[in-house]
Amino acid sequence: MTTPWLEELTEAAGARVVTDPDVLAAHARDHAPFVAAGRAACLVRATGVEDVVGAMTVAQRHRVPVVTRGAGSGLAGGANAIDGCIVLDVAGMDRILSIDPATRTAVVEPGVINGDLDSAAGVHGLTYAPDPASRAYSTIGGNIATNAGGACCLKYGVTGDHVAALAVVLADGTRIRTGTVAAKDVAGLDLTSLLVGSEGTLGVIVEATLRLLPRAHPPATLAAFFATTEDAGRAVVAMQTEAALSLVELMDQATLTAVEAHARMQLDTAAGALVIAQADTPTAAADIDRCAEVCTAHGATDVVATGDADEGEQLLAARRLALPALEQLGTTLLDDVGVPTPALPKLLTAITDIAEQHGVVIGTFGHAGDGNMHPTIVFDATDEGAVAAAQAAFAAIVRTAVALGGTVSGEHGVGTLKRSLLTELTGTAELALMHRIKAAFDPCGILNPGKGY
Ligand SMILES: Cc1cc2nc3c(=O)[nH]c(=O)nc-3n(C[C@H](O)[C@H](O)[C@H](O)COP(=O)(O)OP(=O)(O)OC[C@H]3O[C@@H](n4cnc5c(N)ncnc54)[C@H](O)[C@@H]3O)c2cc1C
Repeated sequence: MTTPWLEELTEAAGARVVTDPDVLAAHARDHAPFVAAGRAACLVRATGVEDVVGAMTVAQRHRVPVVTRGAGSGLAGGANAIDGCIVLDVAGMDRILSIDPATRTAVVEPGVINGDLDSAAGVHGLTYAPDPASRAYSTIGGNIATNAGGACCLKYGVTGDHVAALAVVLADGTRIRTGTVAAKDVAGLDLTSLLVGSEGTLGVIVEATLRLLPRAHPPATLAAFFATTEDAGRAVVAMQTEAALSLVELMDQATLTAVEAHARMQLDTAAGALVIAQADTPTAAADIDRCAEVCTAHGATDVVATGDADEGEQLLAARRLALPALEQLGTTLLDDVGVPTPALPKLLTAITDIAEQHGVVIGTFGHAGDGNMHPTIVFDATDEGAVAAAQAAFAAIVRTAVALGGTVSGEHGVGTLKRSLLTELTGTAELALMHRIKAAFDPCGILNPGKGY
C-alpha cells in the first residue's frame, strides 16, 4: 500500500526508494540476536547528500521515523528497522574524497569501509588506526555512530579520537559542519564529540574528516598461558606499567577450548587463560621481553615471545577466531562491558561466579588491556529456561561492570539490546539531559527513536 509521503519520497529519490519486501527483510536487522526488528515502509539507497536531505525533509514533514544504516554489522540492534520507518542506507556513499599527507587527514563519505581507508592511507605511509574486528566490512559512518573500538585502541584510542570534522544532515534536512582539520579547536560546544557514538539518533553523518597516523613499526608479540583468568588479569594490569603496549587480548578456557575444537591450533586447553600482547615501538622486542618476565612473575605456565610480525599474526589468529568458534557451540549472546583496567581481575572472577549461579556456559575474551571484555553466553535458543538464564546472566554481567566503576558498553553501543540496562544504570538527571539534547537536535523524535538512551 502506498502513502502520500511515500509518493513524495519516490518523486524526490526515484529508483533509490525500494519497497520490495525481500529487500526490506534483508535490511531489517543488524548482527545482534534477541532484539526486536520492525517492518520498514521502505529503504532509500542514498547515493549522495541530496538523497539524504530529500529523505529527511519528507520524513520530518510527515513524522516518519528514519533508521540510518551502514553495513548492518552492529551488535546492539542500533540499525534494526522500526515499524513504518524509512531505512536510510548510506553504504553506497563510499568514496574516499581526499587523503592529505600534509595534515595527515582523509575526507570520506560514510559508506567507506574501514579497512579500505586504511589500505588507501597505506599508499602514503599512513594508517587509519581504529581497528574493529569488523574492519573488513563495517563502514566509517557506522564506526563513528557507535564510536567503535578495537584491539589497537589500547594505544591509539577509539574512533572518536580520530574524527576531526563531520558533515551531518539533521532531522529536518538542514546540513551542518562540525570540527576542523586544525589540530586545536576550542570554539564553542564540541558538536563533533556529541555526534560520535550517537547511534543515528542526532543526525545522519554524510562526510567525515579523519586523522591518520604514520604506520607503526612491525610488532613484537607474546603469548602467555595462565592457570586461572584471575592470574591472567593481574598480569595484564601489571604489564601496563612496563610498556606502552599496542594491544593486550585475553581468552578464557571456554574460549580456548572452542577455538581448538574449531581450528586445531594446538592450544593448551588445560590452561585457564591465554594472554596475547603486542608492542609496536622501535623498542618493541625489549618491551615484550619485559612483559614476558611480568607474566612469569604472575604465574604464567608457558610464555612464547617473538619479534617476527608473521609469527605474531599466527598467535593472534586464535583470538580472531574466538567468536566464530563459540558460535559453533550454540546460540550466543555477546556481551560488551568495560571496567577500569585494575578492576579486570574482579570482573573475570565475577563472570565465573555468574556462569555458575545461572548455570550457563560463558566464553570470555576481549580487549583486556583496556578493560573491555566480551563475555559470550552460549545456550540453546529452543529451551525457554536456557534463554531466560542467558538473559539474566547477561544483565548480571553488565550490572557487575557498572558496580566496578565501568560501563554498560565499551564499544558496541546500546541500541535496543542494552537500552533498559542503560536506563536502569544511568542517573535520572543525566538521562533527562540526554533526552533534552536529543530534542534539540531532533524535536520531532524521528531519528532512530527508541534506540540508545
Ligand atoms: C564479527 C564482528 C566483530 C565486531 N568487532 C567489533 C570491534 O572489534 N569493535 C567494535 O566497536 N565493534 C565491533 N563490531 C560491531 C560493529 O561492527 C560496529 O559497531 C560497527 O561500528 C558498525 O558499523 P556498521 O557500518 O555495520 O553500522 P550499522 O550496524 O549499520 O549501524 C550501527 C549504528 O550506527 C548508525 N549509523 C550507521 N551509519 C550512520 C551514519 N552515516 N550516520 C548516522 N548514524 C549511522 C545506525 O543507525 C546504528 O545505530 C563487530 C561486529 C561483528 C559482526
